[in-house]
Amino acid sequence: MTDRKNIYFFYKESTSIHKNLDNLINRITENGFNVVNDAQDANIIASIGGDGDFLQCVRRTRFRDDCLYAGISNTNQLSFYCDFYLDNVEKMIEAIVENQMKVRRYPVIEVTINDGPSYECINEFSIQSAIVKTFILDVYINNLHLETFRGDGLIISTPTGSTAYNKSVHGAVVDPKLTCMQITELGSLNNNQYRTLGSPFIVSEDKTLTLKVAKEGNEHPIMAIDNEALSVRQVEKIQIKLTGKKIKTIKLKDNTFWHKVKRTFL
Ligand code: NAP
Ligand code: MN
Repeated sequence: MTDRKNIYFFYKESTSIHKNLDNLINRITENGFNVVNDAQDANIIASIGGDGDFLQCVRRTRFRDDCLYAGISNTNQLSFYCDFYLDNVEKMIEAIVENQMKVRRYPVIEVTINDGPSYECINEFSIQSAIVKTFILDVYINNLHLETFRGDGLIISTPTGSTAYNKSVHGAVVDPKLTCMQITELGSLNNNQYRTLGSPFIVSEDKTLTLKVAKEGNEHPIMAIDNEALSVRQVEKIQIKLTGKKIKTIKLKDNTFWHKVKRTFL
């Protein structure tokens, strides 16, 4: 942390941010940091906003693993990726000066479509039928054909994404210190003809998940990487794996993932 001094702020323009941001910039500059105007020149990238903004910040700055990310909430609600409040700049400065921070490394998944372009995600990749009828996917773990899924779709989430979309479909909440990915179903059809595992499952970091989309008018599913739609047409094969890369984020020492889970859900 101490040798990283070039900070870039990522935020959506709004008048409500500016007063507090100017104050933050003044205080952070007084404490020896330089605010840079180009993310390329930064070794700390701070997102101002909520979790959705943090996802966009990491995406827009290309999932850099050579810098630290920090989430700063611009409301009075702390979220999963944000450990700081924009309207409590002094607490942030105190945390820097008194070294109350830790770096947490979050797993990233990589999605490759039709052996072609690859995309990274820190929350999840989701795939859903774009037609009224059910959608058929052959699901492989490495070379093992696990199941033929028939239903609305699948979500493949990282541990940090486990508290987002994954949780809404009753996936497990996963400690981000575990490098793994979780697969959850959206409306699977289960009867004597079609059978899926039916429960969420978690695979280790050495596994590749392959989804083969059955033809029959299903080649244009709705796909999302975190909060962005993927506009790829004619999808036949999707490979999903952990990249080995980690996104480093700055967090407060006394604010663990499980504190956030309790604060948010219980
Ligand atoms: P959104 O629709 O505005 O956000 C959905 C909610 O999820 C927001 O409250 C957001 O927090 C929160 N969130 C995002 N990442 C989270 C995480 N890792 N853990 C816990 N909560 C999280 O869209 P968005 O803000 O751009 O967020 C995109 C995410 O929404 C997607 O990656 C997906 O996980 C999730 N999503 C959920 C559903 C569902 O539950 N049915 C459907 C579609 C997408 P903030 O308010 O702080 O942004
Ligand atoms: Mn949001």
